[in-house]
Amino acid sequence: TPPEAIRNFCIIAHIDHGKSTLADRMLQITGVVDERAMRAQYLDRMDIERERGITIKSQAVRMPWEVDGGSHVLNMIDTPGHVDFTYEVSRSLAACEGAVLLVDAAQGIEAQTLANLYLAMENDLTIIPVLNKIDLPAAQPEKYAEELAGLIGCEPEDCFQVSGKTGVGVEPLLDAIVAQIPSPTGNADGPARAMIFDSVYDTYRGVVTYVRVVDGNLNPRERIAMMSTKATHELLEIGVISPEPLPGRGLGVGEVGYLITGVKDVRQSKVGDTVTNAAKPAADALGGYRDPKPMVFSGLFPLDGSDYPDLRDALDKLKLNDAALVYEPETSVALGFGFRCGFLGLLHLEIVRERLEREFDLELISTQPNVVYDVTMDDGTQVTVTNPSEFPGGKIAEVREPKVRTTILAPSEFIGAIMELCQGKRGTLLGMDYLSEDRVEMRYTLPLAEVVFDFFDQLKSRTRGYASLDYEPDGDQAADLVKVDILLQGETVDAFSAIVHKDKAYGYGLMMAGKLKELIPRQQFEVPIQAAVGARVIARENIRAIRKDVLAKCYGGDISRKRKLLEKQKAGKKRMKNIGSVEVPPEAFIAALTSD
Ligand code: GDP
Ligand code: MG
Repeated sequence: TPPEAIRNFCIIAHIDHGKSTLADRMLQITGVVDERAMRAQYLDRMDIERERGITIKSQAVRMPWEVDGGSHVLNMIDTPGHVDFTYEVSRSLAACEGAVLLVDAAQGIEAQTLANLYLAMENDLTIIPVLNKIDLPAAQPEKYAEELAGLIGCEPEDCFQVSGKTGVGVEPLLDAIVAQIPSPTGNADGPARAMIFDSVYDTYRGVVTYVRVVDGNLNPRERIAMMSTKATHELLEIGVISPEPLPGRGLGVGEVGYLITGVKDVRQSKVGDTVTNAAKPAADALGGYRDPKPMVFSGLFPLDGSDYPDLRDALDKLKLNDAALVYEPETSVALGFGFRCGFLGLLHLEIVRERLEREFDLELISTQPNVVYDVTMDDGTQVTVTNPSEFPGGKIAEVREPKVRTTILAPSEFIGAIMELCQGKRGTLLGMDYLSEDRVEMRYTLPLAEVVFDFFDQLKSRTRGYASLDYEPDGDQAADLVKVDILLQGETVDAFSAIVHKDKAYGYGLMMAGKLKELIPRQQFEVPIQAAVGARVIARENIRAIRKDVLAKCYGGDISRKRKLLEKQKAGKKRMKNIGSVEVPPEAFIAALTSD
């Protein structure tokens, strides 16, 4: 296809504003998917994506579209829709010349609308503003057209009005994509350069890599090279997706498609990397490549210790398809054998955990997520801490923690509540803008550790669900941080150690000690629960002693009943975890680790 006939675009939207539904409608209207084969959210291939209504992986589909007798090829690149995957989103955007900015006409602009718009602007994309769901009785397209026009600097009349559900307005929008979005340009005769914007592991085919060709062309049977690693592979298959993979004769300037080289691990086909021809390589890679960097760590432990090998196998499998997932074995006194895992963020963590439980049928406990700290000791040694148990005990000169830049959008009546929350979370207000009379955008920097703690839940509850949140990494900062340990009869319960700000150490200690007091059954002796920073105890609770005499209930001589009770007690004991001489039912740890 000549570049002049190609339009590469993506749809960007806040979650639930109807991106997948609109994409479905486009597939249907362009005839790529016929009525019978159509199922909702055609592009969301993983079950978990379809159920939660989020897109985790990007996809690209090629659609034919005729305007005024001219045939065009529209490549629609579906981007992941969540903060944890900002880098993946930015690479998908970099593969396009234009973006359809989709806003729910009953909701208006939300935090991810803005975050995605800014990313699109950074990539110099042509933006087509669209109000969706105009079929809803609650839709206020005029009101939100003003908001949207004010934001991107166009006239309210320039905003398209569509319904992805009924299909109203979708054909004019497809025409506008052809009319407004520039066709790709590139050096057709130069050495090949193609950007990888996604790679997916497939059991039968190995890694399927999605690329956008910028310069030159890629052809079947050629040897290609990955510019970040210099690794070379043979191109076994190259083609386009429409809507299923169609192997072809190659891809030229501006084209979007997939390639297969037989590699078995997505780490060999990295998002953002540049593919070139091994025999005639390009001198420079395309810009923007970054290695995935885990931001949030958590311990994952099987409820049943004998599931440990299964958990390891499951992680090995997930890793094939998830370049950002890292893990290593971890042993905990309280929770047994498990893995310390690193994730891009909280959603990524949740997705991995849910897939382990659902697709691999494992029951898991996860420890409170923590961020990565850089600790400098007085003698100059540096320690990277991804697990509270690694926090050094000696003389510390400085602890640095990651910061994030957050954007919060909410009705203006909640400004006070949001400020209070952010201040309590050690936030700094960067600025505030009114999007309309009654909606405000607030920008804060916050420690990532506070955001992963229960920020989102609190934001939602303080704004009755009306606020939306987006954030991106923003360097790090020095902070007064300490490790709080929780001790049961003098023994540290490792799973409960946490790194917190000095001012919050007491609060955390008190909360955990209180929880454990509730959850741990009384023992034959008194059990002190302490929270300590180093050797200093900062909070204390006591579990009072009882005499747990099961036999006292049996009056006289019923021997068989006595024996049964004794056996029951023994079985109960077997399930207990021992912290020193204290017996703790595993449920107590699980309950204490589940936030309420
Ligand atoms: P995404 O998260 O942006 O991909 O949003 P989805 O396409 O999954 O849509 C979220 C919800 O909005 C779903 O329940 C859809 O059925 C609904 N929805 C999407 N588009 C429309 C529309 O045009 N009209 C109405 N009434 N509902 C819509
Ligand atoms: Mg979706």
